Amino acid sequence: MSDSRAQGGRRGFLRHTLAVLGAGVAALAGPPLLAAPAVQVEGLRAERRGAGVRLVFTLSGPTEHKLFRLANPERVVIDFSHARLRRGARLALPPLPGIRRLRHAPWQDHDLRVVLDLTGPVTPLSRLRRRADGRSEVVVDLQPPAASRPVKTLDEAAPPPRELVVVIDPGHGGRDPGAIGQRGTREKDIVLRIARQLEALLRREPGFRPVLTRRDDTFLSLRERIRRARAAHADLFISIHADASPNRKATGSSVYVLSEHGASSEAARLLAASQNAVDELIGVDVEQQDPMLAEVLLDLSQRHAIEASHQVASALLRELDKVGSVHSRRVERAGFVVLKSPDVPSVLVETAFISNPREERRLLTRSHRRKIAKALLRGIRAYFRAHPPEGSVLAGTAPREHVIRPGETLSAIASRYRVSLRQLRRANGLSSDLVRPGQRLRIPRHDT
Ligand SMILES: [Zn+2]
Repeated sequence: MSDSRAQGGRRGFLRHTLAVLGAGVAALAGPPLLAAPAVQVEGLRAERRGAGVRLVFTLSGPTEHKLFRLANPERVVIDFSHARLRRGARLALPPLPGIRRLRHAPWQDHDLRVVLDLTGPVTPLSRLRRRADGRSEVVVDLQPPAASRPVKTLDEAAPPPRELVVVIDPGHGGRDPGAIGQRGTREKDIVLRIARQLEALLRREPGFRPVLTRRDDTFLSLRERIRRARAAHADLFISIHADASPNRKATGSSVYVLSEHGASSEAARLLAASQNAVDELIGVDVEQQDPMLAEVLLDLSQRHAIEASHQVASALLRELDKVGSVHSRRVERAGFVVLKSPDVPSVLVETAFISNPREERRLLTRSHRRKIAKALLRGIRAYFRAHPPEGSVLAGTAPREHVIRPGETLSAIASRYRVSLRQLRRANGLSSDLVRPGQRLRIPRHDT
């Protein structure tokens, strides 16, 4: 790091890292470059075949491939050995029945792994086809299982939209005061107030459900914070801190995401730990699978989470920039344990430098803390609007109709869909709150 501003951030980073296991180092390079594999995957086309789907991968030459299924959730994995994606090539799919999305990543140094996320079980079959021009094709057929499946009821077909869970983690607490300003301001107190402010704002935001890792001045281990985020099924984990630096001039906010290095060493640590832990992390019964599988699944989910974390972090930085100075305009990378939840996009925000007398003074004012909380809210909102998770309220996938079941009340339905009673009454021309089982209600889209 060349400039003095970066030095301040580095110090803050080191301070946080003291409590960290297997600490990563900021701004480490990615994995080493490897010799080019022999075969390039050049493209993919897809077509419907009867009740199923056929995918055809075009390869620059013949190579071996492996195909297998995973359940819970249903996936099909295709490994192309000694292969990589050709530069500029895209493996994209049009909307197809049964396929939610396609992901791919380099695997085991010289292979390419493709994962198809499915909406239900399929019977996959594959074969290699050589072409006259020297190229080859891997043909993958996905057919619905032969056994007849139960017909879905209306309710199952259209689950209610999901609220996005934002886990807000006020740093430090209890016997760990965090950084301390010149006036004796303790980081743990300031960040708890900002976190509660953000919680209040998110509570009023349709489609979001905030969860705090701590609500008072208690000590939580880093692992416990992650555990709480996972238990809450977090869509986003945001840890809130205030920075300190021996350089009292250092000012501004920074946003950190986990470095790839930290991520991969964490994956290694998890793998070294009990299989149960890995199992729980990736939601797959790994004991029944190839032992290498756990590793790549973890790797894939982490890659996705890191990419998402970057996007959240950029959105937060843009908003923090509007309310004060930012310490560094780019997203910083670090190996904080608190960011190491492999499948949850996670960011750590250093709101300001508590070691800077002017920023300490500002952090002590309610109005400034509120400005920070609002900037965080706008950043979170901007990210999720641009990337609404499937099935979430923000994705607009809310069913437009609800059939009332015995015992349901209008107010329960209103809160379930995050609409006001008034909106619900108006959309259905109701003059009272009395509803009867079997009655169909229109669910209005809430105006966000
Ligand atoms: Zn801190």
